[in-house]
Amino acid sequence: MADGAATGKTAQPVFGFDNSYARDLPGFSVPWTAAQVPAPRLVRLNRALAEELRLDPDALSGPDGAAWFSGNAAPPGATPIAQAYAGHQFGGFSPQLGDGRALLLGEVIDRNGQRRDIALKGSGPTPFSRRGDGKAALGPVLREYLMGEAMHALGIPTTRALAAVATGEEVFREAPLPGAVLTRVAASHIRVGTFQFFSARGEADKLRQLTAYTVARHYPELEPGDAAGLLAAVAGRQARLIAQWMLAGFIHGVMNTDNMALSGETIDYGPCAFMGAYDPATVFSSIDQTGRYAWGNQPVIGQWNVARLAETLLPQIDADNDRAVQRATDVLRGYMTEYEAAWLAGLRARLGLGATDAGDRAMADALLTQMQAQGADWTLSFRHLGLAARGEATAFLAQFSEAAGARDWLARWQARLAFEARDPEEAARGIEAASPAIIPRNHLVEHALSAAVESGDMAPFDALLAAVTDPFADPQGREGYALPPPQGFDEVYRTFCGT
Ligand code: AMP
Ligand code: MG
Repeated sequence: MADGAATGKTAQPVFGFDNSYARDLPGFSVPWTAAQVPAPRLVRLNRALAEELRLDPDALSGPDGAAWFSGNAAPPGATPIAQAYAGHQFGGFSPQLGDGRALLLGEVIDRNGQRRDIALKGSGPTPFSRRGDGKAALGPVLREYLMGEAMHALGIPTTRALAAVATGEEVFREAPLPGAVLTRVAASHIRVGTFQFFSARGEADKLRQLTAYTVARHYPELEPGDAAGLLAAVAGRQARLIAQWMLAGFIHGVMNTDNMALSGETIDYGPCAFMGAYDPATVFSSIDQTGRYAWGNQPVIGQWNVARLAETLLPQIDADNDRAVQRATDVLRGYMTEYEAAWLAGLRARLGLGATDAGDRAMADALLTQMQAQGADWTLSFRHLGLAARGEATAFLAQFSEAAGARDWLARWQARLAFEARDPEEAARGIEAASPAIIPRNHLVEHALSAAVESGDMAPFDALLAAVTDPFADPQGREGYALPPPQGFDEVYRTFCGT
């Protein structure tokens, strides 16, 4: 056996694909080939992620990488497929969505033994494209790259970008834009909408297969056919995920059921954005006219989406429909309990509270009331509590347009810390470990993307990427990334789906 180690040559394939979705779930996807693009150019490669996936970054950074990550060539061992799924979009059900501009190349096992999907987004039309062109533009591709890395650095489960490739062709939206393809890495691309697709078609056998596959892949601690266990486990992960979004001030923007992953990862960065001044009604997405997916609605929308998953699982939960509904209802109630617990735990960490007290929630709520009334910045209010714990309250108080209420709250909080007899430095460190100084501010994201798209200047993107992937460190020397938006910017800021 002349393997690589014996011969000194690299016989090891670059991708050790093992494509279980294509192999084990026939009828769940369509084999497909990406469109050819004229001039693929690797714009960014995520070398750290490549290494995590046991891929050789050097082997990916040459012409092979540009060809593979544009879709011009399928990497050895790939079995490109377009996955079928359905979904509720803004509350209305579409029985067939599916990968209209994406292809799953295959799966690899990462350094931690985890199975990860490698997929292209923007790789051309598929049988699921409906009226779309199957393409993506460079701006939204870089946006997804940046946001995913920022979320990962914040400790929030997320899909991530492995590569961004410019295609050398124009895509037409309101105006011609440079085209691009994103390579997305995900724990899987199984969505609530995947279950809905087969449920809507009455395909009970396929639903059972999908349950068994999802349990084995994401919840191996459960029995293969345990649909009730799967529902509860998904509900728990979503509750905790959305609590993390809320704490980060993250607004997903398009929480349709096709954009909720069973793995519990954040998926599909389209019109997402981070909140500046605290207002639960904050919405940036231009298509979210009613504010369905506003920051403050996300927990209950998450529950609504889990309820849609529950509907598809009822026949597997119990042959008796009433009993099945009862169990699902209990799970949905449990979702809210789990959410509330995760949210409160996160707030307590941000307030530097060591011990638990029955008044913690009321104290946190009192701060939120002040923040909302006085237009305080979500991120900086918490971050500057670290300084306040050290006896430097000026930066915290400066967040509030009228500081009297905040000063009263601060006295109450300080009394609580004193009562706990918590070492102030320890409290401050705890606060700063839980409260980022740097988030992807909307004005900085737009600046970075327009420089990249309009003048091919990647320097602002790279600098912003470096800043948002080190969010908790002292921002000294990079203060500009920690500043709130310029006056009035967020108020008129609008984001788009990037389709
Ligand atoms: P999204 O809003 O990105 O979650 O996408 C919703 C649905 O629209 C999915 O089925 C996508 O595959 C499809 N879609 C989005 N953009 C395009 C496009 N440019 N071409 C074809 N299908 C698309
Ligand atoms: Mg989507």
